[in-house]
Amino acid sequence: MAAGARLVVLGKQGAGKGTQCLSLSHHYVVTHVSTGDMLREAVKQGTGLGKKAKELMDRGELLGDDLIMEMVSGRLAESDTKDRGFILDGCPRTVEQARMLADLLAPVDLDLVIDIEVPTSQVLRRLASRRVCVDCGANYSLQARPLIGWTCDVCGGEVVQREDDTEEAISRRLEIYEIQTAPLIDWYRERGQLAQVAGTGLPDTVTKRIVRAIEDRSNRKGGRFT
Ligand code: AMP
Repeated sequence: MAAGARLVVLGKQGAGKGTQCLSLSHHYVVTHVSTGDMLREAVKQGTGLGKKAKELMDRGELLGDDLIMEMVSGRLAESDTKDRGFILDGCPRTVEQARMLADLLAPVDLDLVIDIEVPTSQVLRRLASRRVCVDCGANYSLQARPLIGWTCDVCGGEVVQREDDTEEAISRRLEIYEIQTAPLIDWYRERGQLAQVAGTGLPDTVTKRIVRAIEDRSNRKGGRFT
C-alpha cells in the first residue's frame, strides 16, 4: 500500500478538482476531504451550519474563514485523516485559511499543494454541462452521463445540476477565485510547497500528471511522505 500523504488541491471551479481528488484518494488510500461536499451535506441534513451556509453557497459567496476552519479542524482530528493524511479539496480558499491550516497542522507541513491549471474559457464550458450526484457527489456531465438515465453509477442517487452552477453564481465564484484564492498560488510557491499541473485533456491523463508530480516530490523527500 502506498504511504499516506497530506495534500491540498487548488484550481478554479470546474478545473476537475473533485474528479482528481477522488482518483488520488483511491491511488494513495487517503481520505478525500471536500469542504463543499461537507457543506452540501450540512444543507441536506438541515443542520445549523447548513442553514447558515445555503444562501451564501447559492449566491457563490464564500463562508467565513473561522467557520470553515472549525469544520476542517474537526474533520482533520478524526483517526483516518490523522493516521494516513488527507486530500483537501476546496480549502484553503483564502490566504487567511492557508495560515490557519498551517497553524492547525504545525509542527507537520503539508506534503504538497497541487494547482490544476485550466483556462477560464474551458472551465466555463465544463461548469455549464456539469452534473453531480446528490447523494455521493460523483461528477458527470452532459457529455459523460451515467449509464442509466440520471441515476448515479456509483450509488444510485439522483444526478442533477448543482444549485450554484447558474450563470450568475458561476461568474461570481470565478471572480472570487481570482481575488481571494488565486493569491494562494504565489503564497504556496514562495514556501516551496507548490506543483502546477495542466488540467486539460482526459481525466486519466491529468491524474497521471498529478501522480508524477507527487512522486517527484516524494522522491526528493526520501521516498515517502509520512
Ligand atoms: P465547492 O464545492 O468547493 O465549489 O464549494 C461550494 C461552496 O461552498 C462555495 O461556493 C462556498 O460558498 C462554500 N465553500 C466551500 N469551501 C469553502 C471555503 N474553504 N471557504 C469558504 N467557503 C467555502
